[in-house]
Amino acid sequence: MPRLTALGGFDAKGPACFLLEIGAARILLDLGCGPDHAARPAIPPEGLGPLDAVLISHGHGDHVGALDWLDRLGAPAVFATEPVRSLAQDPQLRAAKPLETLDRIGGEPLDIGAAGHAPGAVWMRIGGPGGLLYSGDLCVEGGVFAAARLPRAAAAIFDCSYGAAPMRLADQRRVLLGAIGAGPCLLPAPPAGRGLELALTCLAAGHAVALCPGTRQVAQRMCEGPDWLAPGAAQALAQLLQRTAEATPDIPFQGVIVAGGPNCGSGLSATLAPRALRDGVPIVLTGHLAQGAPAAAWVAAGQAQHLRWNVHPDLHSLREMLAQVCPQTVLPAFAPAPLRRALAEALPAPWATSGTLTW
Ligand SMILES: [Zn+2]
Repeated sequence: MPRLTALGGFDAKGPACFLLEIGAARILLDLGCGPDHAARPAIPPEGLGPLDAVLISHGHGDHVGALDWLDRLGAPAVFATEPVRSLAQDPQLRAAKPLETLDRIGGEPLDIGAAGHAPGAVWMRIGGPGGLLYSGDLCVEGGVFAAARLPRAAAAIFDCSYGAAPMRLADQRRVLLGAIGAGPCLLPAPPAGRGLELALTCLAAGHAVALCPGTRQVAQRMCEGPDWLAPGAAQALAQLLQRTAEATPDIPFQGVIVAGGPNCGSGLSATLAPRALRDGVPIVLTGHLAQGAPAAAWVAAGQAQHLRWNVHPDLHSLREMLAQVCPQTVLPAFAPAPLRRALAEALPAPWATSGTLTW
């Protein structure tokens, strides 16, 4: 009987790490750290026994940040897509093998498809229609990164980071632009994620936009390999690069500045945000407020604003995912218990109530 064990990512926001045992295969799905307080997966010091591979859904820290534990896991092969490998800072992730050309793992069929959420982000199905579908982090609303329809699977792990939140990204765009007003404004965001979506939205609304070097680098890299982009996005990103300035640590606060470091603890936002606070320039955070990072404290103190920008499925998307996959059992990942309960009420489905699936 196939078995899926959440070693992280159940009943909490991250770290993503799931052990799949199916047929003769033993596969780890992601090996993340954080996002809160650098939390680590529940992996015993002696490891997990023999593993066929570690399959990486995308390059965010809460999915890859514990790759320094590979040795204690017996140094299994790591697979990731080309954009994830080429944009990685971590040498172990840069040296990963190509996931896109892997069609079997441990004797089981493997299918992957674009998940929309970040450069090279994928969902994966291991074991065919009777196997497991892992959504990774998934968002079909962004319009920058490609997103493919999900296949059927007997069991599933769905990204339920927002629980039953119903707000659509189109509405969130309007709210954000209203909050920015005439500017200036600082938007901290991950370069390999919603930073590009925020910049395109602000540019389209007529704002002067500056991008940190890391965000520009991701745009450049994605234009070079447009297979991972949504229709029309390559052209939009090329225009974005032409029409935006490069943000530097001493840039004057004019227009909208999109700066790497979603919680102001890293990247250019770590330098610009304290300046913005001092100068009274609005800061709008749009992602998960990581506990222990500066942004959460500023929002709690009313010094910065927090407005959600969907990079995970909303209620509408989760309903569509269920209709596509038709799972017999589905693990609601990355959602604390109150969000899981709200989701189960809003959207009836065979939601698992523990971190283990069998089917
Ligand atoms: Zn992510």
